[in-house]
Amino acid sequence: MKTISELKAAFLSGSYTPVQAVEESLAVIANQNGTINAFLAVYEDAKDAAAEATKKYADGGELPPLLGIPFAIKNNILIKGKRATASSKMLENYTATYDATIITRLRDAGAIFIGSTNMDEFAMGGSTENSAFGVTKNPLDITRVPGGSSGGSAAAVAMGAVPVAIGTDTGGSIRQPASYCGLVGYKPTYGAVSRYGLIAMGSSLDQAGPMTNSVADAELVYTIMAGVDVHDATTIRPDTYPAVLPKETYTFGVPRDFMKSGVDADVLDTFEAHLRDLEAAGHTVVDIELPLFEKGLAAYYIVMPAEVSSNLARFDGIRYGYSAEGKNLLEVYEQSRAQGFGAEVKRRILLGTHVLSSGYYDAYYGKAELARKKMREELDEVFKTVDIILTPTAPTPAFKIGEQEDPLSMYSQDIFTVPVNLTGVPALTIPAGYVEREGVSLPVGVQYIAPLGGDARLFHIGKKIYDERL
Ligand code: GLN
Repeated sequence: MKTISELKAAFLSGSYTPVQAVEESLAVIANQNGTINAFLAVYEDAKDAAAEATKKYADGGELPPLLGIPFAIKNNILIKGKRATASSKMLENYTATYDATIITRLRDAGAIFIGSTNMDEFAMGGSTENSAFGVTKNPLDITRVPGGSSGGSAAAVAMGAVPVAIGTDTGGSIRQPASYCGLVGYKPTYGAVSRYGLIAMGSSLDQAGPMTNSVADAELVYTIMAGVDVHDATTIRPDTYPAVLPKETYTFGVPRDFMKSGVDADVLDTFEAHLRDLEAAGHTVVDIELPLFEKGLAAYYIVMPAEVSSNLARFDGIRYGYSAEGKNLLEVYEQSRAQGFGAEVKRRILLGTHVLSSGYYDAYYGKAELARKKMREELDEVFKTVDIILTPTAPTPAFKIGEQEDPLSMYSQDIFTVPVNLTGVPALTIPAGYVEREGVSLPVGVQYIAPLGGDARLFHIGKKIYDERL
C-alpha cells in the first residue's frame, strides 16, 4: 500500500491494521536498510503506538486523520527523547529535549514515527553524500544518489518502508530528492509551517514539508503541519497573503530562456511533453521571462552560507554537541569545530563568515538581499499574467554516487529550486516521466510554482494532473 489514503481506507474497513502496517515497515527496513542506508535509527516504540492505534480503530468513533500512518522523519527535526544528529558528528550523541511543533501536530493527528532518516550534514548538499553516517543509495538504482539533502526521507518512501516522510527544504532539499526518487514533494509558502524544533540551516529559507506518493497525501500532511505557532514568529496567518484560489483551467508560464543551459536534452523533452499534456487538458502555456531568477544561484550561495555561519556558531563544543580536548577555551572551540564538522559545512561557514565580514557585507550580503527583493518584484509582475510557473525540478535525473566531485557542479543542480526559497513562494514537484541511463529508467520531476499563499492552488492542479492518473 503506497498511499496514506489507501492505508486509511484499509484501517477503516478492518482489512489491515496499524500493527500490520508498522510490522511491514519494520520488515522492509530490516531487509533493505543495510543496502540503502535511508534510516539512521528505527524506533521500537512505534509498535506500542501501533497497538494503541489498532485498538482505536476497533473501538471506532471520531478518529484523528493520520491514525496509525507510519512516518519517517528527517534527522534535523526534533523528537523528544530521540537522537537528532542532522547527520553530523557534531550532534552524534545529541538527544532532543523537546518536540518540534510539526512533530506535536503530526502525533496529535495519530501519526506513528518509524525512524529518523539520513541527510546531508546540517542539510547542506544535494546527494546525501555529505552525511557523517554514510551515503544513502537511490532505491531505484543503487549506484546512484537519492538526491539531497532529504535523501534518506526520499529513499524511505521510494523503498516502500513508509507512505510518507518529512523533509526540509532550504534550496530544494525536498523537491530535488523527490524528483530523483519518483515522488511528490512539497515546499510550502515560507512561514506556513513552523520551524520550531528544526535544526536551522538558513532561517529565512528553511521550510519543512512532505514527500509522498500522491498529491492528496502531501496536501493532507501539509494541512496538519501548517498554521500559526507561538514558538515561531515567522509563521503566517491564513490571511497574510491575498487569496490565491484554485481555478478550472490555468495559465502556466514557462521561463524558456532560463532553461537553455545545463538541462539534459531528454529531461527537457519530458518537460515539454508534460506541457503538451497540460495543453491537451485545456490549460494554456505561455512563455515568460524571469531574468533575475537566473541570478538565484549566485544570491542563494551568499545568503544561505551567511545564515549558516551564524546558525552554526552555537556549536562550540561547550554548550552541547561534540566537544574536543584543548589546552584553553579557544583550543576547545577550534578543535571541536575542526573535528565535529565535515568539509562541506566548513566550506559554507567560511564563505558565510567572509560575506558577512565588515568591508564585504555591503558588497556581497547586502547585494544578495537586494537581488532577492528584486526577484520578488519580478515574480509579482509575472504572476499578474500567469497562475503558475513551471520548470523542470532538476536539470538531470539522479546522478552516480561520487560523480559530482566539484562542489560548484553540485550547486548547479539547485538552479530551478533555490529561487523559490529566496522568494518564499510555494512549490510542488510531481513525477512527469522517465529518462534512461545505462539501461535503467530514472524519474524526472516537474516543478509547479505558485504565488505566496498559493498552496491550495498547487494541490488542486497537482491532484488533477498527477493523482487522477495514478
Ligand atoms: N542543495 C542545496 C544546498 O546544498 C539545498 C539544500 C537544502 O535545501 N537543504 O544548499
